[in-house]
Amino acid sequence: MTDCVFCKIVAGDIPAKTVFEDEEVLAFEDLSPQAPQHVLVIPKKHIATLNDLTAEDAPVIGKMARVAAQVARDRGFAEDGYRTVMNCNQLGGQTVYHIHMHVLGGRGMSWPPG
Ligand code: 5GP
Ligand code: ZN
Repeated sequence: MTDCVFCKIVAGDIPAKTVFEDEEVLAFEDLSPQAPQHVLVIPKKHIATLNDLTAEDAPVIGKMARVAAQVARDRGFAEDGYRTVMNCNQLGGQTVYHIHMHVLGGRGMSWPPG
């Protein structure tokens, strides 16, 4: 997707602070962090929203969750705890239409979410 900001990050056309990368998944620091630690984990494949997931995409979602936990361990906030979030569509607060898992740590998180 040429007009997708996260596809451009995957392609290297927009710079990002990469945290983890393999053939299927990329993790990088959020441009506008909402917590002391804020990393985004994305599939390299363009998938617009959670509503667009197919059965063949299931493994990469599992890998994204494992990468999120590994990022938390590597950065030392796994044991204290953290929040993962995947926003979907307008009411969910999604602004970039390429699915991503937010990994937020380093401060207490409230519930219910805003
Ligand atoms: P959403 O609101 O879709 O759940 O989250 C999109 C996230 O992407 C936001 O937290 C926003 O700060 C981040 N973001 C948007 N554009 C860029 C960018 O060009 N680089 C990085 N690193 N993060 C971005
Ligand atoms: Zn994309």
